[in-house]
Amino acid sequence: MEQALESVFDTVVARNPGEVEFHQAVREVFESMGPVIKRHPEFLEWKMLERICEPERQIIFRVPWTDDKGEVQVNRGFRVEFNSALGPYKGGLRFHPSVYLGVIKFLGFEQIFKNSLTGLPIGGAKGGSDFDPHGRSDGEVMRFCQSFMTELYRHLGEYTDVPAGDIGVGGREIGFLFGQYKRITNRYEAGVLTGKGLDWGGSLVRKEATGYGTVWFAEEMLRTRGDSFDGKTATVSGSGNVAIYAIEKAQELGAKVIGFSDSSGYVVDEAGVDLDLLKQVKEVERGRVKDYVERRSSARLGTSGNIWDVPAQVAIPSATQNELNGDDAETLIKNGVVCVAEGANMPTTPEGIEAFKKAGVLFGPAKAANAGGVATSALEMQQNASRDSWDFEYTEKRLKEIMVNIHELVAETAESYGMPGDYVAGANIAGFEKVANAMHAFGVV
Ligand code: NDP
Repeated sequence: MEQALESVFDTVVARNPGEVEFHQAVREVFESMGPVIKRHPEFLEWKMLERICEPERQIIFRVPWTDDKGEVQVNRGFRVEFNSALGPYKGGLRFHPSVYLGVIKFLGFEQIFKNSLTGLPIGGAKGGSDFDPHGRSDGEVMRFCQSFMTELYRHLGEYTDVPAGDIGVGGREIGFLFGQYKRITNRYEAGVLTGKGLDWGGSLVRKEATGYGTVWFAEEMLRTRGDSFDGKTATVSGSGNVAIYAIEKAQELGAKVIGFSDSSGYVVDEAGVDLDLLKQVKEVERGRVKDYVERRSSARLGTSGNIWDVPAQVAIPSATQNELNGDDAETLIKNGVVCVAEGANMPTTPEGIEAFKKAGVLFGPAKAANAGGVATSALEMQQNASRDSWDFEYTEKRLKEIMVNIHELVAETAESYGMPGDYVAGANIAGFEKVANAMHAFGVV
């Protein structure tokens, strides 16, 4: 990293102690910024990097609620409104026991650049809680969501801050959150949350968007080498919202997906994933991966290592941060992987990214590859604002165009900075320049 950038980075670490995931996300962006500050030294003079690393606002709040046994539980809620240069704050809510300020800040920071790449008018934010929905009844999840929104609502608005889902927050949670927002404010403000149900302001394709978008991004990367998904083997980590629809689209494009996972383990299914069964187990029954294996004779549970030990030509990490490390990358490379597209946020460690780069593997970073989810959220906001709803084909077409455009922008930016094929640098630079220019236009803000 350049000396000038290193010194800003040191300040960021000192000002945000212990937030290791946030430091990792900032470092990854700064490592791409050397050529940018050479071409645009004014960004340093304007203190653009210092400004962009400091959230505009951070909200931390108590979330008290009562469980089914009548016991009071206390969780912590977060919303980091990171940057509103391009539009209202936009980014998901994560409910997972690992959530703390450092996780929300890394996600919010990444979101700024991702949202910029979509070309749509949305700023960057993220929020969530250390609440764990696993094993909780619908009533408990509802009471938690109501308590969470009872504080958060005052910070939201369709022109201010528009949350969506993320890990642990799907259609059920968005329903409880929207219901409470509507009740407190006495306003049917559909555009205040995205990922809503189709009967009450949601958008077709939102559920599928992140997974489909990631696969389309990978398809574009493969196309640059005259290649495609057709006939390829693939593994997808996770089995949540992103993973399921990445599997669906990869299969549609002719790939054979032979592995997936959750936090309890991984599955190898050499016959190819039975998607209907997977949806039944995960979306309907909220079960574990072993429930899939019990009903599918061609499938087995992995007994050692992790999903990246399963040989595949395409890998789509779609579970969580830092789930694919340097050793995993070496294993994938040894087994012939040609393309990796990040469905999850920051799933690959810096060592993993370096290994893929060295081996010449096509690598699509999350900021670009998984931007389809937030892009379709922005399309949901457009539909809400015009009190309209678009059909599946039209919405899917819009999403696909957006993903193709992101690929083109990222590839061209990398090329113009002399780093052809480096999608990490291309995404960081293209995302950053637009936000920095907007911030400069607003004066010292
Ligand atoms: P879900 O909650 O629907 O699914 C998450 C999946 O990942 C589950 O299978 C879960 O297993 C697994 N998982 C979560 N944490 C861990 C862990 N620590 N170790 C192993 N497995 C884990 O979330 P999403 O699919 O929505 O999100 C997945 C990733 O995609 C996240 O990084 C998210 O930030 C990112 N993303 C999501 C978008 C969206 O539109 N939903 C948009 C852009 C990015 P288990 O159930 O056992 O915990």
